Amino acid sequence: MPTLPKSKHRPWIPKKPKHLREVDNASFYNSKRWRSLRNYFIQMYPLCVNCKRKGEIKNARVVDHIVPINMGGSPIDIKNLQSLCDPCHNSKSAKEGIEYRKSLKIRNV
Ligand SMILES: [Zn+2]
Repeated sequence: MPTLPKSKHRPWIPKKPKHLREVDNASFYNSKRWRSLRNYFIQMYPLCVNCKRKGEIKNARVVDHIVPINMGGSPIDIKNLQSLCDPCHNSKSAKEGIEYRKSLKIRNV
């Protein structure tokens, strides 16, 4: 009786489309293009926009994508960028992680 060759592919686990893999983002964030854009942006907008909305003045440390790249946001469009402090960025990222996993589930239905 012939046996099937063992493969790493597990058909019951849906494959992520290439543009949704987070690995791709890592190479983008390490790119010279992004780093210079980020440095420029944080000089232009040095304060956390989220804290500013709450009436607090806090230095931003992160340039964040308003619509995450994973969710189809433009990585280099200045309109899709905002300056955030670490705590604000962390809470936004945590929420986005949940949204992102939800969106994957929806797509796989
Ligand atoms: Zn903040």
